[in-house]
Amino acid sequence: MLTVMKFGGSSVADLEHIRNVANRCIAKQREGSQVVVVLSAMGKTTDNLIATAKQITEQPSRRELDMLLTTGEQVSVSLMAMTLISMGVSAVSLNAWQVPMHTTSNYQNARFKRIDSERIRKELDANKIVIVTGFQGINKYEDITTLGRGGSDTTAVALAAELHADVCEIYTDVDGVYTADPRVVPNAHKMTEITYDEMLEMASLGAKVLHSRCVEIAKKYGVELLVCSSLNHNSGTIVREKTKMEKMLISGVAADKNVAKIRVAGLGNEPNSTFRLLNLLDKNKLNIDVMIQSLGKDGTKSVSFTVTKSDMLRALDLLNENKDYLGIKKLDSDENVAKVSVIGAGIRSHSGVAAKMFGALASIDVNTEMVTTSEIRITALIDEAYADLAVRKLHETFFD
Ligand code: ASP
Ligand code: MG
Repeated sequence: MLTVMKFGGSSVADLEHIRNVANRCIAKQREGSQVVVVLSAMGKTTDNLIATAKQITEQPSRRELDMLLTTGEQVSVSLMAMTLISMGVSAVSLNAWQVPMHTTSNYQNARFKRIDSERIRKELDANKIVIVTGFQGINKYEDITTLGRGGSDTTAVALAAELHADVCEIYTDVDGVYTADPRVVPNAHKMTEITYDEMLEMASLGAKVLHSRCVEIAKKYGVELLVCSSLNHNSGTIVREKTKMEKMLISGVAADKNVAKIRVAGLGNEPNSTFRLLNLLDKNKLNIDVMIQSLGKDGTKSVSFTVTKSDMLRALDLLNENKDYLGIKKLDSDENVAKVSVIGAGIRSHSGVAAKMFGALASIDVNTEMVTTSEIRITALIDEAYADLAVRKLHETFFD
């Protein structure tokens, strides 16, 4: 039996929390499982490191930022190994170099390409608890990379897939996956199970429990996930391909405030203009999300799309530099937007969910700017100031 256990920043915030985690890892080993532990940086370490870098410049070098941020995980894994060793348990900490874990080259948002499991296997066979830095990798330039904020979940699932672990347990400060963020909707309830597809939508839409790429990997390799709390022994939420539960129409409501909107106007009304714009953004690794295109009265095209808040300045700089090439006449942006979404496998087979959703938003006077849908999700872009209110109203509409 092999278990990968991942603990988030709040679960290793100080030495007392680290001892608690150590005890849980020891208990797992005593149950007869080999144990690989993946850790995030302690508490708010990553946020603080970013804030320090931003005191130097608003847009620090992405390579250097990765060099800086990965120190956080190296602190937590070494302290965890020391704690275990001081408790008389064999343990070893490994960073991305030592495993090694290879990624693509894009700093700040790298993806795993290959993980060599030999070193980890060797340490496990020597009866050690192996503690691995989350969030980091190495690229072909022999540089350190990071997987994007929240990326430690992805490290854990990628390791679980590579090692054919029996289960990947993601420990956090909430009991599992809720129908909405319990801090916003106090009567949200914990789901016992959720499918990969639903979780994928929830994760990419701001339900911050799991990094969305970790769910993609889990689905691809069939890794069963258990999301639970490091502070209690409650049952948690299982993420898997199929759920047994009687299907609710909607499984959750989520809001994502980490969004900014960019509008590009005056493009020529020809096929190439949209292609050139999207291609340029893509070449520069800018992921765009909700997008609409419209034709103005003057016969020019406008394209509006969303990016993460952290990508907004970079996207605007890029578009400004390429204004002539793209034929942009007007460029504006808005940071005060949020995405609200309802998610559920039931949307596929039931009509009327959209009408119900927009009716609910209208009843609290919240206007919607852009809309996108998938088979199991409906998303609307709204004013960020109303995001929490909208989530509460939608939860009440679909669950009460
Ligand atoms: N420490 C990193 C972050 O705060 C990675 C993680 O916690 O998953 O984003
Ligand atoms: Mg996280």
